[in-house]
Amino acid sequence: MPVSGKQSIVRIQEIIAVGLLLAHLLLLSACTRNNLSFPADTPRLIAQTENRSMTYNKLSADEERVIVHKGTEQPFTGKYYLNKEKGSYLCRRCDAPLFRSSAKFESGTGWPSFDDAIEGAVQQIPDADGRRTEIVCAQCGAHLGHVFFSEGFTSKNVRHCVNSVSLNFLPEAVAATQTEKAVFAGGCFWGVEYHFSKLKGVLSVKSGYTGGVTDHPSYKQVCTGTTGHAEAIEVVFDPSLVSYETLAKLFFEIHDPTQLNRQGPDIGTQYRSAVFYTNEEQKKSAEKLIAVLKTKGFNVVTSVEKAATFWDAEAYHQDYYQKNGHQPYCHIYQKRF
Ligand SMILES: [Zn+2]
Repeated sequence: MPVSGKQSIVRIQEIIAVGLLLAHLLLLSACTRNNLSFPADTPRLIAQTENRSMTYNKLSADEERVIVHKGTEQPFTGKYYLNKEKGSYLCRRCDAPLFRSSAKFESGTGWPSFDDAIEGAVQQIPDADGRRTEIVCAQCGAHLGHVFFSEGFTSKNVRHCVNSVSLNFLPEAVAATQTEKAVFAGGCFWGVEYHFSKLKGVLSVKSGYTGGVTDHPSYKQVCTGTTGHAEAIEVVFDPSLVSYETLAKLFFEIHDPTQLNRQGPDIGTQYRSAVFYTNEEQKKSAEKLIAVLKTKGFNVVTSVEKAATFWDAEAYHQDYYQKNGHQPYCHIYQKRF
């Protein structure tokens, strides 16, 4: 069995992880007091300049004062500080989902307070005042507010103090009726997920496995190429903000649809190019785009298959590049339409 580029990365990571664990244990006693400050991960600000697909919402003067010029709204004046509805809080500027209502609590401070953020959605940076920790949208850099630790409000002991003006609220009931799912396989899911998570109108992206024969497949099983699964992503999107055709076009432009059962260094049927449609319109849209690419001379091998069960990949595969601050190694955007 050939060892693909990604499989060797995963192996190297396993070795590094053991090394880091040992180092961490040695340093633990020295670090406990510093654990409460912001993590030392690299700010992910590349997305702001590199993302071709991102368009920003127009901001009012008030929103611009807070979001761009890092202002603060008056306490007890924002429209979400008392909001108890179930749903998601999105970035006002780029619509990236930032906080879930399940993390919201009443702090009495007059600003919406959350004891957790959606993984990878919020970036912590030292504030210009030298004391506090500022929080910004990891996707577009919009100023959100500050994060405070050890105040004892909830068991997580964290308070993301956010300006209402930096947020949009998407009620759960509305999201359930207005969102649609799309599933794509285009080689290593890390890179595919990376590109889709930056597209406006995309509410969530998960890495996983689909199109195979076994239930609950693990990464190691899928890697053998014998389960029939493809590494894939499941996108939940708001069709009023982004069309399926836009998603499918992006899919064909961030991987090479002419490579059969491989993508760059990753070889095997688990890296095949496939569109898994969830309704007839998606199927027609994908087939139309494949026909367009063929007239342009691309010998597209992408299969169009009916969506089957999507099995979530292990947690360490989710938001891989966002967590690691790297760029995808074999998913580079190339305009084809
Ligand atoms: Zn944003």
